[in-house]
Amino acid sequence: MYTNPLYRPPSEAYSLIIQVTEGCSHNKCRFCSMYKGKQFRVRSNDELKEHIKWLKSYNKDPNRIFLADGNVLCLSTDKLIDLLQMVKEEFPTAKRISSYSGPLDLLRKTDEELKEIREAGLELLYMGVESGSDSVLKHMNKGVNQEQMIEAGQKAIKAGFKLSCMIISGLGGTELLEEHAIESAKVISAINPHYFSLLRLVVEDSLELADDIQKGKFHLATPLQIVDETITLLENINLTDCTFRANHVSNHVNLAGTLNQDRDSLIHNLKKYKNSSSFTPRMYDFL
Ligand code: SF4
Repeated sequence: MYTNPLYRPPSEAYSLIIQVTEGCSHNKCRFCSMYKGKQFRVRSNDELKEHIKWLKSYNKDPNRIFLADGNVLCLSTDKLIDLLQMVKEEFPTAKRISSYSGPLDLLRKTDEELKEIREAGLELLYMGVESGSDSVLKHMNKGVNQEQMIEAGQKAIKAGFKLSCMIISGLGGTELLEEHAIESAKVISAINPHYFSLLRLVVEDSLELADDIQKGKFHLATPLQIVDETITLLENINLTDCTFRANHVSNHVNLAGTLNQDRDSLIHNLKKYKNSSSFTPRMYDFL
């Protein structure tokens, strides 16, 4: 059984999802409503065995597995390694095991522990960087600053993980739009992940941030401002063979390419269409 709501990255759409934890142990980011209704907990071994038995009745031979919920990496290293061994034994056909990873969890583990977890079979980590700006990270209560975010990402790569990083377009509002773009490019460049994606800020009514918007304390960027922000971010980025996507349902403009190879053409296309008289968000797909 799953405890809903259940989330996974878009690229894990065809993966078997094993719900190892429920919720997020941080659960304080001001823009995130994903797990606000869940009390964080780690499922017991008995629950996980039962859960895997249930999953196997639907899918015995998955190709890929995603470990949910928010931050499975908060488990003790021994427990995580035991879990990965059990998952590999139960699903021998799985070619990839992945999970979300919070920067705080990556920072808490030693290099050696991360290597052991990688060797035990966890291959791909998704890390929500959200912003590279210290001001934005602090305002949004991410729990880490720019320096710690870079350290967390670099630690994951050093341990041998494939790393996918996300930035949220518009997270600085209109006030910190440029700073958010430039500092995010700086952090992503310093980490140099294998995958980098852009999502756009969508504020649910239940969030404190929605009150800030109503009270005029936070101003949402317009679609055109988001395009400007993306251009600034791309102009400042420096990556090596990084798969880049902005193809989430929240994005105004869909983008795809390899960075830095495709950077100039992505910027050129964004500028061209932004300046066209018929610009309408979601009209352009550069996939
Ligand atoms: S760490 Fe991730 S899942 Fe947890 S509250 Fe922040 S954005 Fe949401």
